[in-house]
Amino acid sequence: MSESDSPTPGNGAAADADGVDAALAAARDRYKAERAKRVRDDGNAQYEELVGDFADFDRDPFADPDYTRDAVTDDVEVLVVGCGFAGMLTVIELKAKGIDNVRMIDRAGDFGGTWYWNRYPGCMCDVESYTYLPLLEETGYMPTEKYASAVEIFSYAQIVGRHFDLYPHAMFHTEVESAVWDDDTLRWTVRTNFGDEITARFLVTAGGILHKAKLPGISGITKFKGKAFHTSRWNYDVTGGAPGVFMDKLADKRVAVIGTGATAVQVVPRVAEAAKELLVFQRTPSPVGQRNNGPTDEAWFKSLQPGWHAERVKNFTESVTGKKPEVDLVSDGWTHVMWDDTQTKTDDPVQAKAMERSDFQTMEEIRQRVVSIVEDPDTAERLQPWYGKHCKRVCFHDEYLPAFNRPNVQLVDTDGHGVTAITENGIVANGIEYPVDVIVFASGFEVTTDLEHRLGFNPVGRDGVRMSDRWSDGARTLHGILSAEFPNLLMISLIQAGFGTNFLHFLSKSAEHVAWLIAMCEERGIATIEATPGAEDEWYELLLGVAMGIAGYSTRCTPGYYNSEQGRDAKTARNLVYTGSLLEYAGFLERWRDAGTMPGALVTDES
Ligand code: NDP
Repeated sequence: MSESDSPTPGNGAAADADGVDAALAAARDRYKAERAKRVRDDGNAQYEELVGDFADFDRDPFADPDYTRDAVTDDVEVLVVGCGFAGMLTVIELKAKGIDNVRMIDRAGDFGGTWYWNRYPGCMCDVESYTYLPLLEETGYMPTEKYASAVEIFSYAQIVGRHFDLYPHAMFHTEVESAVWDDDTLRWTVRTNFGDEITARFLVTAGGILHKAKLPGISGITKFKGKAFHTSRWNYDVTGGAPGVFMDKLADKRVAVIGTGATAVQVVPRVAEAAKELLVFQRTPSPVGQRNNGPTDEAWFKSLQPGWHAERVKNFTESVTGKKPEVDLVSDGWTHVMWDDTQTKTDDPVQAKAMERSDFQTMEEIRQRVVSIVEDPDTAERLQPWYGKHCKRVCFHDEYLPAFNRPNVQLVDTDGHGVTAITENGIVANGIEYPVDVIVFASGFEVTTDLEHRLGFNPVGRDGVRMSDRWSDGARTLHGILSAEFPNLLMISLIQAGFGTNFLHFLSKSAEHVAWLIAMCEERGIATIEATPGAEDEWYELLLGVAMGIAGYSTRCTPGYYNSEQGRDAKTARNLVYTGSLLEYAGFLERWRDAGTMPGALVTDES
């Protein structure tokens, strides 16, 4: 071998780069073609709300249908709508600041929010429990596994509720029907489905992020003669079993799962093992990486030093937002996949190319994982996601792909078109009717729709202005939390606020800020607080500026809730999140508090 043809590392690397670049160019075309199949004019409007004919899909299957109670009349300092972790963390922070005259309201029958509703088989958290579960040091609770099941998380919510004595504050099974600000009494009046009338100085809406289920807007859903339900209202009367317990009534049933998002990835293996036949209707495949769950190492957990939890939470967010901390404490699928944050805008073409290559290689690993697990080549081809890693939430599961090797499981890929109709007997896709006994809608939740729509009530602010009117051209907020003309209304939602792989990190930062604001008003004798319109504009400009950095990436994505189903209207566009790192968003809040002057807030003093 002559010196010139020896495979030097440099030559090899160049050859690799050429190979990757050719594959990347081909992938770019494929991404474009797959996206084109899926973009639709109706965006968010393609989905059905669970009202009217569909109201039964929203019924609480876990509640006592005969539950009733007398109406309550009360006046409190703070009323929190939502008993999920956002509401709980807010009240815990308030109590720590000595503000105890608080009531909490929730439709659900207990604490837990998402984890109250989502009891579908296989439900678990895809962020590791040591990072996701809040207040572990305070409660002294050791999660049993690295990735906790929904059963465990729901029971942990109750542990937190008891530990911080939240139950006396809570009004469950209760739906807010109206919330109206009174400028004379400087109070909100909130009315509920039980005839309660509660006045409050501050109203906190912590009404949930992924809680308003949606169905595909296709004809015939109500005609179906078998049993049908949404994953977030799992019907164990139909399937048998219970959360975490084998479903023993499906052995003679042909079951359909519609959707292949993060929920379906968890549901499919459990239905596959229980049903006579399972048909999975796919519009767009999810990226599915390795999970690697396992029991908690007790000795390790006990060795953790005070302050470990906050450090781990921060370290995880750094690891999944391209901040590359010195040590990757969590070291799992998330941190591996997101280590290079390829969304970041750069004007440097060399860096931009490197980022695209890194994204491609990550997705290529995910596609090759399908090929190595799924035995039927056609099914393996159809289960491969052709889009960038930031387009949809990456899933991690070790049983989803193997489920397609079972003889009783069939993938019905619709080549981007989705299910087109439901008949009395089954599902229509690709022009074929598939008869089934049970339909499971794993079709997701409203994420970028209007806030009042998701809350289920339309707050009425100063001079009778309704939120839907003031926000008729889209949301207007400061930090997603304060809004002009809605005094003493503090919102925790994704609209114009932060966002993070670990939602609990976002919720804890929001709760901290909301509680600080309320305590500060009390301390400084502030009667009302709201955003100034100017501050709302500035905040939106800032959000837009950051979003522009990823706009190019996002518009190349296949539609999904990350990009409002590629919806283009200006109003929906204002429902955006802060698309930079959650740590940056938290930094804005922190600096705002530290400024001491509440810049951009309009306050009136108590007199
Ligand atoms: P998604 O919105 O992610 O998925 C909905 C699915 O329904 C998609 O696959 C969608 O296809 C499909 N779909 C919609 N309409 C049709 C149709 N007409 N025909 C066929 N398929 C259709 O909802 P999920 O409930 O799966 O997940 C929502 C979010 O919930 C996740 O992203 C995650 O944030 C959270 N989650 C978190 C978990 C955790 O562990 N922390 C676990 C589960 C969920 P298409 O992609 O083409 O739109």
